[in-house]
Amino acid sequence: MSYKDEQLHEEKVFKDPVHRYVHVRDRVIWDLIATPEFQRLRRIKQLGTTNITFHGAEHSRFNHSLGVYEIVRRIIYNFQDRAHWNNDYRLLCLCAALLHDLGHGPFSHSFEKVFKLDHEHFTQQIILGDTYVNKILERVQPGFAQDVADVIAKTYSDKLVVSLISSQIDADRMDYLQRDAYFTGVSYGHFDMERILRVMRPIEDQVVIKSSGMHAVEDYIMSRYQMYWQVYFHPVTRSAEVILTKILHRAKYLYESDYAFKLQPLHFLSFFSGNVSLAEYLKLDESIVHYYFQLWQEEDDEILRDLCERFMNRRLFKYVEFNPNKQMNDWMKLYQLFKDAGIDPDYYLVVDSSSDLPYDFYRPGEEEERLPIHLLLQNETLKELSRHSDIVEAISGKKRTDHKLYFPKDLLLAIKDKAIVQEITDILYSKEMS
Ligand code: ZN
Repeated sequence: MSYKDEQLHEEKVFKDPVHRYVHVRDRVIWDLIATPEFQRLRRIKQLGTTNITFHGAEHSRFNHSLGVYEIVRRIIYNFQDRAHWNNDYRLLCLCAALLHDLGHGPFSHSFEKVFKLDHEHFTQQIILGDTYVNKILERVQPGFAQDVADVIAKTYSDKLVVSLISSQIDADRMDYLQRDAYFTGVSYGHFDMERILRVMRPIEDQVVIKSSGMHAVEDYIMSRYQMYWQVYFHPVTRSAEVILTKILHRAKYLYESDYAFKLQPLHFLSFFSGNVSLAEYLKLDESIVHYYFQLWQEEDDEILRDLCERFMNRRLFKYVEFNPNKQMNDWMKLYQLFKDAGIDPDYYLVVDSSSDLPYDFYRPGEEEERLPIHLLLQNETLKELSRHSDIVEAISGKKRTDHKLYFPKDLLLAIKDKAIVQEITDILYSKEMS
């Protein structure tokens, strides 16, 4: 029997709090899970700094990746006997589902922002480079690794396969919404996935939803909308993330200014220089980052020391509503006042913006072109979801943005010149009410 068809003697199961069990029968999947590159995902939290706000959110990218695999496995099981579905794609879909987040690093969002990295680029490199994962995929058949990489990059020729892993209703989103809701303990994020899986149909190059399942899909879209604003963009989580990005900026700046570190930032050097090799990238996980932040609390540099102490001990920045587009003058005044008070505004005065588009109909040529969800009506015709559902129509194509200004209130209160404190608080808090 060829490697690609090899089955385990006994089915293996992972106990999972969201899907109850994750079932593995294929030797290839079992071998991929055992690789160091996949095991590394155990040491990277799915939600980065969210556990600062929701203490239960300690789950890893490993959990999520297994979950996405399991959902795709169930979808394919339902598709098996349907026209338009080519069963040769089964293993390709399962591998792409399992490996879709393989390139995520620790605190991806902040690292990507500061060092201009892209986790998708690393996912491609791990699948195509000199890695254990690559060897297993090429054993399936030469060129298979490239196919898996193409499905994840959404460039694979069969769009039906791509849409299972990434579309506006895909296995990735269905897993993370439920998983993140479960681990944060919030009551949003729940929807009837079993129902959605039962009404999914493969039609030509896309997955559509039988119209009788529309309400389950509405629920899913609203869950996503609420999870973004209640969990993913939570201002306290963002405060921790702001501090994290400032630590990375400060460490880079100090390194470039020949500062004498007590603990040299050896694991960060290639990140500072913007030339990160795959081997170095794979070495960095959250334990390493925490190790540095823990010891940098003893550095001589006051800013690095203070920021690390804040991050490790949850002494976060406070925030107020602040729109930088409308409050440019306030921004410039605050910047100067912070300087006058001896607080470096480049590290202690930060505007952070988050925005989300909950669902979108098809807008060809636009920057974020998204494939819409189609309903399959009883007369076998297709109709775009927002044209049929009033609830979805209400939030379709509407981007919401939230701006906040972060600052350390404790440092402000410690300023000796009380006139400056008064001026700063007047600006910060007068606008909040308006
Ligand atoms: Zn994912």
